[in-house]
Amino acid sequence: MRPLLEDYAGLRRNLPHITFATLPTPIDYPDKFAQELGISRLYVKRDDLTSPHYGGNKVRKLEFLLARAQADGARTVITFGGAGSNHALATALYARELGLRAVSILMPQPATDAVRRNLLMGHKVGAELHLCEDRDTVRRALAEVLRARRAEDGAEPMVIPLGGSSAVGTLGFVNAALELCAQLRTDGRPEPERIYVAAGTLGTSIGLALGLAVAGSDTQVVAIRVTEPDIASEECAQALFAETAALLHGLDSGFPQVVFRPSHFTLRHDFFGTGYGVYTPADQDAIRQMREGAGITLEGVYTGKAMAALIADARNGVLRRGPAMFWDTYNSRDFSDQAALVDYRKLPEAFHPYFAETEPAK
Ligand SMILES: *Cc1c(COP(=O)(O)O)cnc(C)c1O
Repeated sequence: MRPLLEDYAGLRRNLPHITFATLPTPIDYPDKFAQELGISRLYVKRDDLTSPHYGGNKVRKLEFLLARAQADGARTVITFGGAGSNHALATALYARELGLRAVSILMPQPATDAVRRNLLMGHKVGAELHLCEDRDTVRRALAEVLRARRAEDGAEPMVIPLGGSSAVGTLGFVNAALELCAQLRTDGRPEPERIYVAAGTLGTSIGLALGLAVAGSDTQVVAIRVTEPDIASEECAQALFAETAALLHGLDSGFPQVVFRPSHFTLRHDFFGTGYGVYTPADQDAIRQMREGAGITLEGVYTGKAMAALIADARNGVLRRGPAMFWDTYNSRDFSDQAALVDYRKLPEAFHPYFAETEPAK
């Protein structure tokens, strides 16, 4: 089910798409947990279950991104992220399914088990991993990789931006919003008053906001910023919205010309803590409550912070009216068995400190 393609013939014709995800993802209605939080109703959109192999929010973006790479004749996809980037790992995993080479250009991030697991898995699925200490080094590494890949591939590699949040990647969440509206109609449930979702590079939250505008929904998107303010800002949000809307309208002139609604999109800055990838007491507490209350596993970089915002608003009485939705963007498929088979010494040496007893220098 891809309502975006079903509803718009021009998009079906002009927009490359490959199916990776099993959609629609379920919606949970944990009523008892909602009561414990002091809200009338809680919905949980289980995008942790987008795929039996590797779930989370990146799968929806990659259906459009990698289809575009393939349509353009690319042999290699190059992307970016923190050392433990879920996006870089998901890209490498699904690129391999298509026979595309994946290059991940990564930057330092606090070393955690999740980071180590993603690094090992990235290596296992054949990603070429680079560690760069700052943005200048990233630029240099990209130039070098591009030169080498052009020569070897005889084709232009596709460069996928941080988090997969180009206009093309964002389409995955325009579709997700339409999917949600259809699902709620079928379930006979009222639309949520608010959707709480983690915001890294904004493709997820802005795609949802755009799709909800297209559907004429009154639901507000509450995007909890977990990255540095220059990566997720109000300006970036509006620019990505406009770019995605223009892309859709350009591919299908029948696609509604929606505009960004400031009243329906809030970027929250109050759960960021001290840095990207740094856990906060509030997110650790939210993770525990979600596990005990709804049996759902979150993590501390993204989803714990988004859930902490929902819980805080529930406690402060902000969520008394309609249902609140939590959009679970975290891959819940456990691949630690496979990661455990990888010897970290096979990774480029720059990554070895992540596996040492002590924390690597930041
Ligand atoms: C990447 C990621 C996000 C952020 O999504 P954006 O579209 O970049 O805002 C949220 N949660 C998890 C678990 C992620 O891996």
